[in-house]
Amino acid sequence: MRIPIIAGNWKMNKTVREAIEFLEAVKGELDAVEGVEKVLCPPFTAISTVAQLVKGTSIKVGAQDVFWEEKGAYTGEISPVMLKEFCEYVIIGHSERRKYFGETDEHVNRKVKAALAHSLTPIICVGENLEENEAGLTEEVVTRQVRGALAGLSSAEAGKVVIAYEPVWAIGTGKPATPEGAQAVIGGVIRPLLAELFGVDVASKVRIQYGGSVDPSNIGGFLAQPDIDGALVGGASLKPKDFVEIVKISAQAKK
Ligand code: PEP
Repeated sequence: MRIPIIAGNWKMNKTVREAIEFLEAVKGELDAVEGVEKVLCPPFTAISTVAQLVKGTSIKVGAQDVFWEEKGAYTGEISPVMLKEFCEYVIIGHSERRKYFGETDEHVNRKVKAALAHSLTPIICVGENLEENEAGLTEEVVTRQVRGALAGLSSAEAGKVVIAYEPVWAIGTGKPATPEGAQAVIGGVIRPLLAELFGVDVASKVRIQYGGSVDPSNIGGFLAQPDIDGALVGGASLKPKDFVEIVKISAQAKK
């Protein structure tokens, strides 16, 4: 049985003060929801504050990126050793990092390995853009990204990752994939690929999220699909009410 995981990706939003206000609004209610892992991924500047505020609760903290080196002359970067002080999770290979900051499958792979080496759980983002989708290349793109991200991992390591299938055309657009469409990629492409690469045990254990314009009105449909184990939530995770609602509906859906 895979425990669903709802992760809120705040992207480049919220000052420390705003993060505190958000936590004040949601902490009690989120903490009380059982049967779902709840992860908040603030910008780096708010991570230590959020980690402090959720101490002793069931709410976990993730980062939105990580560099693969442990320390040194890499101006502006944050290492897994630094994140480990505050986080259990780290988002890797988000489409915005791939698009605006030139991240390649090889970068993603190095980051995944670094995260695992420091006992951080990577949430690895994959997904085709609109052009690729319209050209019928979804399977090819997603397969390449998953293979690239997990290259060189042992089965034990692969069993620890979380994968987020995020079709780029659905992110921040208000136009989510259909639950059936997301299930087709997650259950029909990603999970079989994991079985091929690492065996059926790993494939049945790895949690695969859907991401892209998830909100309280559509989360239930995604979680009702057999292979969808949660969501990576952007815009709606900034709104306390919506995020709590999404988490609560997820807990009900997977009971
Ligand atoms: C995301 O940030 O990964 C995301 C899916 O954003 P949104 O929910 O706003 O589409």
